[in-house]
Order: sequence, then C-alpha cells, then structure tokens
Amino acid sequence: MRHIDHFIAGGATSPAGRKHQIWNPSTGEVQAEVTLGDAALLDQAIANAKAVQPEWAATNPQKRARVMFKFKELIEDNMQELAELLSSEHGKVIDDAKGDVQRGLEVIEYACGIPQVLKGEYTQGAGPGIDVYSMRQPLGIGAGITPFNFPAMIPMWMFGMAIAAGNAFILKPSERDPSVPVRLAELFLEAGAPEGLLQVVHGDKEMVDAILDHADIAAVSFVGSSDIAHYVYKRGVAAGKRIQAMGGAKNHGIVMPDADLDQVVNDLSGAAFGSAGERCMALPVVVPVGHDTAERLKEKLIPAIHALNVGVSNDPDAHYGPVVTPEHKARVEGWIDTAEKEGGEIVVDGRGFTLQGHEKGFFVGPTLIDHVTTDMESYKEEIFGPVLQIVRAESFEDAVRLPSDHQYGNGVAIFTRNGHAAREFASRVNVGMVGINVPIPVPVSYHSFGGWKRSGFGDTDQYGTEGLKFWTKVKKVTQRWPDGGGDGNNAFIIPTMG
Ligand code: NAD
Repeated sequence: MRHIDHFIAGGATSPAGRKHQIWNPSTGEVQAEVTLGDAALLDQAIANAKAVQPEWAATNPQKRARVMFKFKELIEDNMQELAELLSSEHGKVIDDAKGDVQRGLEVIEYACGIPQVLKGEYTQGAGPGIDVYSMRQPLGIGAGITPFNFPAMIPMWMFGMAIAAGNAFILKPSERDPSVPVRLAELFLEAGAPEGLLQVVHGDKEMVDAILDHADIAAVSFVGSSDIAHYVYKRGVAAGKRIQAMGGAKNHGIVMPDADLDQVVNDLSGAAFGSAGERCMALPVVVPVGHDTAERLKEKLIPAIHALNVGVSNDPDAHYGPVVTPEHKARVEGWIDTAEKEGGEIVVDGRGFTLQGHEKGFFVGPTLIDHVTTDMESYKEEIFGPVLQIVRAESFEDAVRLPSDHQYGNGVAIFTRNGHAAREFASRVNVGMVGINVPIPVPVSYHSFGGWKRSGFGDTDQYGTEGLKFWTKVKKVTQRWPDGGGDGNNAFIIPTMG
C-alpha cells in the first residue's frame, strides 16, 4: 500500500507510529496510509527550522521572491498531477481540484511581490533632527493546521505569506488528504528553498496539541471546524502565541424579488452543490424574499437539481463527486433525517444515492429542503454536504436579520437588481465576506479572507495585507544623529569619491 511520509528537512521521514487510512472516496477503498506524528517528531522539525530561519530572514526580499516565483512556475508545470492526486484523496472533480490549486497559487503570486509589500513607513523630521521609521520583521517559526476540504489552497494561503515574510513554516495538513501538501513541500524545495524552511508533519489532535504548546512556535494559523478552531485559539493564546483560527460556516444567499432567477439557479447549482457542498464558502441556505419569489425559485430549482450529474472525481462530465469519508456521508445523511424530523419538506432527496459501478463510493445525491425555520438544528449547524435549505423571508429586514443572527458569519450573498438594497445589505449584514450577485465571494489574493462570529477567532485575516500583518511584527525606530559637536574629532565628514 502507498505510504505517505512526513516531509522533514529535505525529505521523507517515516518513523514508527499510529497509522491513519486514506480513502479513495470514489471507489470506497483504502488507497494509502499516513503515519501520525508526535511531539518528538515536531522537535526534530523545529530544530531544522531554527537552523535555517535566521539566514532565510536575512536573505534580501527580492531573492526570497525569486524562490516564490520559481515555485509558482513549478506548480503551473505540475498542475495536472497535483489536481489528480488531490481529487483522488478528496473526491472533488478535477476542475474543482485545479481551482483549489489555482486559488492557492494566486497567494504565491501575491507573495512574489514581498519586496514591495514589506516596505515600512518613514517620517522625516518627527522632531528636531529626529526621524521615525518602522519595519516588519518575521516572527521566527510559524505553523499551519489545515482542513481536508482545500488541501492545496489553504496551506498556500498560510505558508506563502509566512515564508515570503522571512519565517520558517511547519504545516500540519488534514490527515484525510495529506499527499498534496507533501508534494507542495517537495516542489518548494525544488524551487530553491533551503531544507527545513517548509516542513510537513502529519497527525491528529496529539500533533496539534504539540504545536500549540511548543515554546519555539511563535504563531499558528488554523482553518477547520468551529469547536476545534475555538479550542486551538484558546490553547494557543494561553501558550502566548499569536493565533488566527477560521471555523465553520452556514452561508446564506438572499434572493430579492427583482433578482434574475435563472442566473440565481445557475449560481446555486455550483455554489450549493459544487465540491459536494464541502466548501466553507458554499451557499447551503437560500432565502427568497416574499412568497411569490420562493415559489418561482423553487419551481426553477427542482429541474436544475435533477439535472446535476454526480460522478467519480475523474469523470469530466460530473458536476460533483463523493464526500470525503464514509463517516461524513453518514453525517450528511443524518442531517437530512434530522431536517425531516424537524418538519422540513424534503423536496429532492439525496439519501441512499448509489452510483452504478461505484456502489461503495461515498456519494450523496443533491438534496433540496423547503420550509426550514430558524429554530431547527439542521439550520443552526453546518451540514457540509450537497444539501440546499430554503428559509423563506417575508421582507428585506428579515433577509438582513437571518445571516446576521446566525452563529456563523463567514460569507453571504444577495441577488438583486436594486443597487440601493444591495448597498444597504452589504453595509448592515453581520458577516465577514459579502457577495453582490456573486455567489462565492472569496476575495482575491491581494485583499484578505476571513469570516466573523464563530467562523473566525483572532483578529487578522488570511493572506493579503492582513496575512502579512499576521506573520510579521512591527519594529518602530526613532533616530537622531547629532552632528558630533565642535571638537573636530567627531565632526560630520561627508565621504567623497576617489
Ligand atoms: P476539522 O476541524 O475536523 O479539522 C481541521 C484540522 O484540525 C485538521 O488538521 C485536523 O487534523 C485537526 N483536528 C481534528 N480534530 C482535532 C482535535 N480534536 N483537536 C485538535 N485538532 C484537531 O475540519 P475538517 O473537517 O478537516 O474541515 C472542514 C471544516 O473546516 C468545516 O467546518 C469548514 O467550514 C471549515 N473550513 C473553514 C474555512 C474558513 O476559512 N472559515 C475554510 C475551509 C474549511
């Protein structure tokens, strides 16, 4: 069986330890295993990182940028291989897998501009003969703990910014699809990075705790589910670290009566069901405003959902593939059961779906549930599957209140032709990322990504200038250079050429 190793210093390390099985979600078979690391393995990685980081931080930013640029080229050259590997462990279709790599790559492209974005501030003459300037310095060693659902993009969000800024980085990817993160570390080395600058340690809670408690790790970026994000935030902060911890989501799509419903249905087909709904920026709740809007939308949604093609992850005609594990399939179907018991109307039922020839795969059919209300558990919690819930709103005010009152506040979208309504909505809604006629408003790499409420603990976002802030500390220098006085010995001498 294929074995996935830790990537320590410049290569694979596979000490004895607990093993975790890696599924192929399309076939339902175990395809590989990964060894879960412990505190002793982390110590080894930290020692390597400590040995290499000071010299990397002292390397001028333009040279660091050249490594990032070479890495960007290598990712482009290996896009197909990365996408196939990713999709075989995650289950998302190849085009989606390419998107996963591409959105991470865009952060690497931003990081290629590190000489520009690292420039500090300068005030000349803040007092008599006094100048003040600031510089951003790296923290030392940073760590990233990432979820299964974007095994390429989210690691690159983190290490792209951290390393370009002069830090060494230890990545603890999801143990469910760990191959692509290792492949990225190999390519980074090939791009010219020194050994030990980017290392990958595999593991579960034991490794996460070791990272959070380790005195030599200055900052930890986490992305995953909210309870664990909150735990990571509290434990990391208690250990004196800088922590950003992004959590779960339940994003709403508000449909105003004047919206272009054909466009909305098209957008929802991708945003609710793409990647089997396993996206923190998916749109699993649609909120039509007014009875008539709800009825018209439902009528158009039903045939569009029936037309969705569920297939194996390398089927070019599939709209989406299986979910990640058998436990997750059971969990998603369990939420559909709950919604039904709570009084939701199951309009399209994806439970018990099997794909001919792939009966053991972890497929869930697309599901539409109407008449969902805010007191239902299936509304309050994240389902993270191909399930779209309709929550009917009576008015625009209701539509603003629903996502604002929800425990999660990652993303939200409004579909309308009315600029005033859109503007009001964007300014009032209590959610971190807003789309106006854009179903999945993931900001581009030179802005920043981050949700509010239980979708994000800590106060800096991922990538862009916020990411740079997270991975650096600001030193402020106040300087005065007296002219040396009048005794002649210290007099200021202007050097001359030749
Ligand atoms: P998860 O919380 O199960 O795992 C995330 C990471 O935490 C993994 O590396 C895992 O090994 C580790 N972990 C698991 N159990 C742990 C424990 N008990 N203690 C410490 N660490 C533990 O999340 P997942 O299922 O891999 O990913 C899906 C979740 O991530 C969803 O909730 C999704 O919304 C969220 N997510 C959020 C964002 C965002 O930016 N807000 C982006 C992507 C995914």
